[in-house]
Amino acid sequence: MTRVFNFSAGPATLPEPVLRQAQAELLDWNGIGASIVEISHRSADFIEVAARAEADLRQLLSVPDDYAVLFLSGGATTQQALLALNFASPGGTVDYVVTGHWSKTAIKQVRPYVKVNIAASSEAGGFVDIPPRDTWKLTPGADYVHITANETIHGVEYRNGAPDVGDAPLFADFSSSIASEPIDVSKYGAIYAGAQKNLGPVGVAVVIVRRDLLGREGLPRADIFDYRSHAARDSMLNTPPTWNWYLAGLVFRWMLAEGGVAEFAKRNAEKSRIVYEAIDGSGGFYRNHVLPDFRSRMNIPFFLPDETLTARFVAESKAAGLLALKGHKAVGGIRASLYNAMPVAGAQALAAFMRDFQRLNG
Ligand SMILES: *Cc1c(COP(=O)(O)O)cnc(C)c1O
Repeated sequence: MTRVFNFSAGPATLPEPVLRQAQAELLDWNGIGASIVEISHRSADFIEVAARAEADLRQLLSVPDDYAVLFLSGGATTQQALLALNFASPGGTVDYVVTGHWSKTAIKQVRPYVKVNIAASSEAGGFVDIPPRDTWKLTPGADYVHITANETIHGVEYRNGAPDVGDAPLFADFSSSIASEPIDVSKYGAIYAGAQKNLGPVGVAVVIVRRDLLGREGLPRADIFDYRSHAARDSMLNTPPTWNWYLAGLVFRWMLAEGGVAEFAKRNAEKSRIVYEAIDGSGGFYRNHVLPDFRSRMNIPFFLPDETLTARFVAESKAAGLLALKGHKAVGGIRASLYNAMPVAGAQALAAFMRDFQRLNG
């Protein structure tokens, strides 16, 4: 068996020790004679797994006590819609900052429900930066302000923490950068993330929300779309994605054992430095268009001189044990995703491959 370096943007590489533990426990979890996915979510055994995962995630991200942590199905996109249903007011306005593909998706999910003000957008410039905060046209009395902490496709990331948006709560899509470095959760009204980038397998999303916001009336919605109800029932309003929750819990424990988010911040800085250096040191053979202050540490899109070389790069990198480097179809080119489970050796192997490839094809 060979495990390659997997640069997939999501679902993405998982830590090998986590996969091994899941494999070892699959038929008989903790001596109960059944798999963790074959027992009731209301059993003491699963409740223990669920509570442990929440406690570990709280420790990992230093989540303050006045925030609820929810484990929900439906991925990040569903949460994008639920944010409006739960926190917008009838006739109210919500502010969105557009910095790439996923910001636009977030807006698409709420358009049917609320009036959206695009407070700022970097689309005209081709999504290579984040509009300076003093150019944002925020709505006085907006129900919330939404940002995308890391644009997984365009490779643009907020690198200076949470922007100050005044009185409105700040909501952030952290799908592709959660737990990649320490953040100050108290600066946000809500943080959400699909697990399949940096937290575990697809099928569960994490929502971290300030409890006082759960008191908002929001818009008319079914109980199953109500974060209050999910919080009141410890995310077990209906059958939660138990397998995904369990696996995410193993990933949280692995991250804590490795040294927590401070350690991953160091590794992620190192990995991204290695790959950007290979791009910038190529004399223009490889190009990344994002302005240096906004370059993502997690997802690095880059481009070769033409399509033929791009296709050859994808095929030969795969043959060399570097998986899933093909760029997203919306932008083309190559994309290297460097989530927590990608070791520094993976970034080094990619940079070495890039130099060899250029020598032979440049
Ligand atoms: C992947 C991703 C999404 C979509 O996640 P789903 O779980 O597929 O709904 C949303 N936002 C960002 C930033 C992403 O990277």
